[in-house]
Amino acid sequence: MVQVSMKVPFGDLRRQYFAMREEIDAAVQRVFERGWFILGVEGETFERHFADYLNVKHCVGVGSGTEAIHLALRAVGVEADDEVITAANTCVPTVSGIWAAGAKPVLVDIDEQSFTLDPAKLEAAITPKTKAILPVHLYGQAADLDPILEIARHHHLKVVEDAAQAHGATYKGRKLGALGDAAAFSFYPSKNLGANGDGGAVTTNDAEIAERIARLRNYGQEKRYYHTTKGTNSRLDEVQAAILCAKLKHLDEWNVRRAAIARIYDEEIIHAAIQKPAAMAYGTHNYHLYVIRCQRRDALQEHLNQQGITTLIHYPVPIHWQKAYEDLHRGVGAYPRAESCAAQILSLPIFPELTYDEARHVAESINAFQDFKITEA
Ligand SMILES: *Cc1c(COP(=O)(O)O)cnc(C)c1O
Repeated sequence: MVQVSMKVPFGDLRRQYFAMREEIDAAVQRVFERGWFILGVEGETFERHFADYLNVKHCVGVGSGTEAIHLALRAVGVEADDEVITAANTCVPTVSGIWAAGAKPVLVDIDEQSFTLDPAKLEAAITPKTKAILPVHLYGQAADLDPILEIARHHHLKVVEDAAQAHGATYKGRKLGALGDAAAFSFYPSKNLGANGDGGAVTTNDAEIAERIARLRNYGQEKRYYHTTKGTNSRLDEVQAAILCAKLKHLDEWNVRRAAIARIYDEEIIHAAIQKPAAMAYGTHNYHLYVIRCQRRDALQEHLNQQGITTLIHYPVPIHWQKAYEDLHRGVGAYPRAESCAAQILSLPIFPELTYDEARHVAESINAFQDFKITEA
């Protein structure tokens, strides 16, 4: 028996720091000693290394994942009042990025196996105003891109991937981030590749799109004080870029470790009321999140909380019920799969430094959950 007093955090970034303290400290020191903090050699080095890692031609560092979405949409030609189609179960930043580009988000329901945009629902959402499709590789698993790309080609639409949770995940043997016209990554600290602050990047195989992002992130200037676009300020700073260079070397081993924890959950959670996440045959999951489903989700979360296990819900309120997005409000049943997921999903602790004992404690505690609907029968 594992003792009940074991506390399992949802995440713990101190464990990552203590495991690679010398590398991080050296990276930060290097930048401070150089005395150059914005758009320099660390950013360029990281951009090249991350592009090579993904096997994509260009990577441009920006200030955050939200900004990566915003600038990628602008760079592929999205303008004010255009429509951008995305998944109804995504997190709000996806939609913030679309609004920031001046466009209107149009939501589409999801495939319940993969938790990603359902290609079969896509065509009905296309209007003369649609300019782009923004599939979200939610929880670290690819959306089914081939049918999405085919529909996009047929309707002359751009595809920007929200790859903010998808570092190192693959689709049909290829790393995500290079399959659409452009992809947006986030380096928010808890992502599979996370900075120690905010950060993001746009990746693309199109030199013109990359060049546009490079201008848009830097006040729209082509060279210093000569502005050819109405840009903004959204840059990946040198300290974060240097840290990301150090962490990128660990990304594959971290993803392997996440997959091993997922395997413990897959094998050891045995409970009639729990549905475990599907691993789609078309790709590899990077297990950014391990999301289970349970009809009595709130009771399960409370039960785990009492066992010292912290869980989260990604995400409890779908976009079309968020207060801030009244323009997108729709009633119950508008996106039934996204709605039922929001009521039933629960994210279990999963991060590279989580111990196997901690993961087993989570599995055992779930197995001990008394589901009254079942026990009373
Ligand atoms: C984290 C995240 C974002 C936003 O990234 P930030 O760096 O926090 O701005 C966008 N989309 C998804 C799916 C994310 O997980």
